Amino acid sequence: MYLGNIVELADTQELFSRPMHPYTEALLSAIPTTDIDAKRKIIILEGDIPSPINPPSGCKFHTRCKYCTDICKKEVPQLEEVTPGHFVACHHKLNIKE
Ligand code: SF4
Repeated sequence: MYLGNIVELADTQELFSRPMHPYTEALLSAIPTTDIDAKRKIIILEGDIPSPINPPSGCKFHTRCKYCTDICKKEVPQLEEVTPGHFVACHHKLNIKE
């Protein structure tokens, strides 16, 4: 969830192995690990959390998203089922299998 909206919904294994929303990707990158060989890069979100009573236009995450484009600032992404049981609200979904 981000600012009161579900942005991604999937079962645990699917979500952890293939996050499709940039906010999920950032949250998962911040999970501590004891594996010293893990080659994960922590994603640091820039900017402040917007006010929920005056949220940004379009995608509420656009002020902090490194993948943001013009459409993100104008149109609210709808929660779509991308693969069976995996729902994502983003104009530029990550980790889509071709
Ligand atoms: S819709 Fe755009 S700004 Fe929002 S999470 Fe997706 S890429 Fe980022």
